[in-house]
Amino acid sequence: MTTACIITIAITGSVPRKEHNPAVPVTLSEQIDSTREAFEAGAALAHLHVRNDDGTTTSDPDKFATLQAGIRQHCPGMIVQFSTGGRSGEGAERGGMLHHRPDMASLATGSVNFPLRIYENSPELIRDLARKMLDYDIKPEIEAFDLSMLYQALNLVDEGLIKAPLHMQFVLGVKNALPTIRQAFDFMVSELDRLMPEATFVAAGIGRHQLEVNRWCLETGGHCRTGLEDNIRWDKTRLAASNAELVGRVAGLCADYGRHPASASEARAVLGLGGVDG
Ligand code: ZN
Repeated sequence: MTTACIITIAITGSVPRKEHNPAVPVTLSEQIDSTREAFEAGAALAHLHVRNDDGTTTSDPDKFATLQAGIRQHCPGMIVQFSTGGRSGEGAERGGMLHHRPDMASLATGSVNFPLRIYENSPELIRDLARKMLDYDIKPEIEAFDLSMLYQALNLVDEGLIKAPLHMQFVLGVKNALPTIRQAFDFMVSELDRLMPEATFVAAGIGRHQLEVNRWCLETGGHCRTGLEDNIRWDKTRLAASNAELVGRVAGLCADYGRHPASASEARAVLGLGGVDG
């Protein structure tokens, strides 16, 4: 008996561009095709940003709605997660598409330095986004770029702004933020287990750390994230051919750790999400 591992596919993100890797999907139809291929390769959750046709990031609610509809149609039951991340708009604009009621949305619970700028999340903005997610019955995925963000997420549960149990994502390897250090990862996982044993978690290793962090998650009972948002390479010698190829690599590792890729319905059960109502 193996335990389910939810594979998240972060298809596009906001930084990687076609000139870096032509497999990065930009238009809505490219994004839907890429998500479908990843779904068929074993991904159960899609983490989504939307872009303008010139590749720049936008928070256009209509684009999010079209992308969600395409994924609902072509990837039955797949969990849809919108990013409220910092490059897609300013302040409250970042939550301007939440009325489309995706299953989940990302929520960073603190500010951090990114490679070239500050990823700014004021206490007020965090609470506004959390309240909106609560109103629309959207489960947040907490994006923790450092240890303090774990404790801030637990505080938001105490304040009644996030429903327990938490689903955490630990992000490792962003330049100027938390490095990819096993002891740091283990400490965050152990603190989450101590303070909210019923919580679930995933971790993202950025760039060359992607596969290493996938292995850590498989080993410790966590879930896995992969995709061209975080890493455009297969290895040192070549670019990743597609999001599906990266998903296939994680799916293929599961058995080594007594795990299997979660189906969409298994993933929904693990995260306490309802079915898709259309
Ligand atoms: Zn993202």
